[in-house]
Amino acid sequence: MKASLYHFKTLRDTPSDAELISHKLMIKANMIKPIASGIYTWLPLGTLILKKVENIIREELNRGNCLEIIMPLVQPKDLWDQSGRSKEYGPELLGFKDRNKRDFYLGPTHEEIITEIAKKEISSLKDLPKIFYQIKDKFRDEIRPRFGVMRAREFLMKDAYSFDIDEISMHETYSNMKNVYKNIFDRIGLDYRIVSADSGSIGGDKSEEFHVLADSGEDTLAFSNKSDFAINIELLDEKDPKKISGMPSPDGNGNLNLKKGIEVGHIFQLGTKYSKSMGLTVQKDNVLQEIFMGCYGIGVSRIVAAAIEQNFDDDGILFPESISPFQCYIILINQRDNPQLNSEAEKLYLELKKNDIEVFFDDRDLNPGVKFRDANLMGVPYQLVMGEKTADNQTVELIKRIDQQKEVLKLNEIINKFKS
Ligand code: ATP
Ligand code: MG
Repeated sequence: MKASLYHFKTLRDTPSDAELISHKLMIKANMIKPIASGIYTWLPLGTLILKKVENIIREELNRGNCLEIIMPLVQPKDLWDQSGRSKEYGPELLGFKDRNKRDFYLGPTHEEIITEIAKKEISSLKDLPKIFYQIKDKFRDEIRPRFGVMRAREFLMKDAYSFDIDEISMHETYSNMKNVYKNIFDRIGLDYRIVSADSGSIGGDKSEEFHVLADSGEDTLAFSNKSDFAINIELLDEKDPKKISGMPSPDGNGNLNLKKGIEVGHIFQLGTKYSKSMGLTVQKDNVLQEIFMGCYGIGVSRIVAAAIEQNFDDDGILFPESISPFQCYIILINQRDNPQLNSEAEKLYLELKKNDIEVFFDDRDLNPGVKFRDANLMGVPYQLVMGEKTADNQTVELIKRIDQQKEVLKLNEIINKFKS
């Protein structure tokens, strides 16, 4: 992509109303634009990053034999009456009537819909086990939308739902999904921890959360210094972090240390909560058995913000390569009235593109300081600097964004560098 063809409107000043660094940087780099409280448009740069996250999640789920579907955002209230959650879920559930006075909700999660679908699609033991998933916007009328896309009202979630004949098989599916989740967060390159958690209004017997560690996290996590014990402190009797820190670990091993986390994923063993209330059964040994379910969420849009919370410096974002909008950023210096330089840069750009290397070419006729500022802000991991001098001897300066390490490479070496 060329800057001259792109939609490039980075802000010079840091927005003052944004509290979190990720929110500031996403606004400053023009990735997102608010339209109402907790409701955003993802602009081209933000969309590129969001799609990278989405694709990693999709690939790993597909590898784990999960089947992608698309469920409706608008959900009949009747289904929520059946599960009992129209009363339970609370004011985050936004409802409305259609022209025939029928009640609907904007989907904050999809347990009711998927259970209704499973009633039609799962008719015998042969249909089990099965995992369906979707990547789809959710709406929750959050009491305090804040921190940009970190806590939005409309946000992108990946939600998966599993179906098994018994508890043992549900545990197996759950543990496979936990591994799929580890693969996803490892591949994105996030520093995360898994903790036991409260199942809240989704319900069920057991749940665990995946947290990206960051000082700005809204959740407090407790870890034993001697064992694998790890818990969201909302599950402890004592809630005061000052008192919990140093307390003996409830598993009897060592003491508790605290860290702040951003919840990016949550996996649940639902058991028969929804199959019982909504009547999801199959025949086994001539009796009708309730199906054991699990559900598995990932905050896709929240991951973009969480990744920035963990990866930034004074100049901007330091995206992990896995989700960076581009692999490299060509900065052309003083190209005005220099046709040779322009044509060398154009050649390099086309060559990189031909080799499927995602390249952003800053061909704007602007002073180099502006280009470096934008390149640093955007967080692209490698900058390729071309000026009069380098063009004369057929070289490019490669700068690694994260540590400013510089290397001069021959034009024909660049492609191999990125391919390796
Ligand atoms: P939180 O405790 O942060 O409100 P939750 O426990 O209500 O989240 P889940 O129902 O577990 O959320 O949803 C699955 C995932 O969706 C969460 O782990 C989180 O990453 C993401 N998510 C939830 N609410 C929001 C939101 N308002 N904005 C962005 N992402 C969200
Ligand atoms: Mg949760």
